[in-house]
Amino acid sequence: MILISACLVGLKCTYNGASDPRRRFVEQMARRELLPVCPEQLGGLPTPRLPCEIVGGTGEDVLDGNARICTKDGDDITQAFLRGANEVLYLARLVEADLIILKQNSPSCGCGYIYDGTFTRTIRKGNGVTAALLLREKFRVLAA
Ligand code: SF4
Repeated sequence: MILISACLVGLKCTYNGASDPRRRFVEQMARRELLPVCPEQLGGLPTPRLPCEIVGGTGEDVLDGNARICTKDGDDITQAFLRGANEVLYLARLVEADLIILKQNSPSCGCGYIYDGTFTRTIRKGNGVTAALLLREKFRVLAA
């Protein structure tokens, strides 16, 4: 089974209530080849929600308690992101996912690159929290 960021198959789960569908993933979804997950919704966050970024590090740093995730207004919502990441990990283990496709740049799903915590749309190297947790647990993760 392949898990995928839900916004990539057309679910309107991004912070502003939009989606970012990719045709090939929507077609795979229609063939029931993918399982969509949105870690931010699974962590209990509403949609729409304020934009969030990792402040002071990467997803790995958040997992280790050395960085946090804040809304644009400065509220610390790290716990919701950790909850969502662990829910996705639960599903990945349950279905024995052999691949997880995650949307780039997100503080949850970003794989390889994330926003830098300044809310200026600046990209830095690093993984989002969910990507970091899945990689730490030895799952195969790809960015899309
Ligand atoms: Fe898409 Fe992941 Fe953001 Fe949810 S958390 S909207 S699945 S990028």
